[in-house]
Amino acid sequence: MAEVNMEQLLNCALCPNMCRCDCPVLQALGHEKVAPAGKARFAAMHQQDHLELSNEIIEAIANCLGCRGCTVLCPFPELNLCDELLYARTPDSVDQSGQLPAWEPYLANLKKYGSPYGQKPPFGGKSSRGSDVLYFVGCTALANHPESVAVIGKLLQQAGVNYQLIDEDCCGYPAETWGDPNLAHSLAAENIRKFVECGAKKLVTCCPECWLIFTERYKKWGFELPLEIVAAPAYFLGLVKEGLLKPAAIEQTKLSYHDPCIWARTAKLTKEPRQLLESIPGITIEEPLFSGELTHCCGGGRMFQLSFPKTAEEIAKRRLSEFTVGAGIVTACPFCREGLSQENNARIIDLLELLANACCS
Ligand code: SF4
Ligand code: SF4
Repeated sequence: MAEVNMEQLLNCALCPNMCRCDCPVLQALGHEKVAPAGKARFAAMHQQDHLELSNEIIEAIANCLGCRGCTVLCPFPELNLCDELLYARTPDSVDQSGQLPAWEPYLANLKKYGSPYGQKPPFGGKSSRGSDVLYFVGCTALANHPESVAVIGKLLQQAGVNYQLIDEDCCGYPAETWGDPNLAHSLAAENIRKFVECGAKKLVTCCPECWLIFTERYKKWGFELPLEIVAAPAYFLGLVKEGLLKPAAIEQTKLSYHDPCIWARTAKLTKEPRQLLESIPGITIEEPLFSGELTHCCGGGRMFQLSFPKTAEEIAKRRLSEFTVGAGIVTACPFCREGLSQENNARIIDLLELLANACCS
């Protein structure tokens, strides 16, 4: 189990929730037990053996999207509350339960299929074994939009990039989130084995959660990555700048961009997706209330769409209300695409599919 930083956790537990307006869970549910400092108090009391890890307490502490919205106004720059909360509720051994019964089917799927969604669908695309570029889809994009793999493959072919796909396993983040670090580690080990075997030098992923776990967690878990990890928006912008992709005008010209929290606040990728959009002739971008590093989470962080579906839906509804009616909403994350699409009147467009539309038709 990862070590909890008690000093930081106590700083938060004693704070009057200075970030309350930036925590989407608190805003959606409205009760103090899921406020950032409320969760920190439960976590700190559990760490000091004053509180049993009952289902109610696990649920309260786990009500964190990992969106890092609370960092915007937090006076403690060293505090990474979402990780402290995760570590504090993660069991020391398999005999202790850190899991809610509702999560069991997803953990069972991960063990059996390597995906929380069950059997992986067949996915197409021209995969060239031995290519330097590995395109890592991620289980959420694969489960919800398997057809997107071929679309993005077409885009890579258009740019003249040989790429490969592998029989990927879940990155492990969901297993860690659902309180099974051992399973997370074994998924990571299996992925590393496949990365080495495929011989690629660069892994490009469209999933911010996969990017986060590859770049932050794998190293913390003691794995050495055999390839460079690249965020898809930055990679495809590079192809446009090199002149390998030449976007042409498309029908829809008025668009908004929803910043996925991990791309914006952790990877600091706020300009690149906008530059990609602006590379399409005639596009104008209408910014929503709260954009860039101040973005609000769509409700899909840390597998909320499976773990806490009603809360995820309410958070998505709130986020959608921050956009101008009429403009299509582009995003670059499979969770955001899924969460924001739940509202019937919202037009959610995947950034790479939009680029493929502009470059390949
Ligand atoms: S995350 Fe920072 S601002 Fe928010 S309650 Fe904790 S200490 Fe206060
Ligand atoms: S990371 Fe996001 S959901 Fe978690 S406490 Fe901070 S603002 Fe709330």
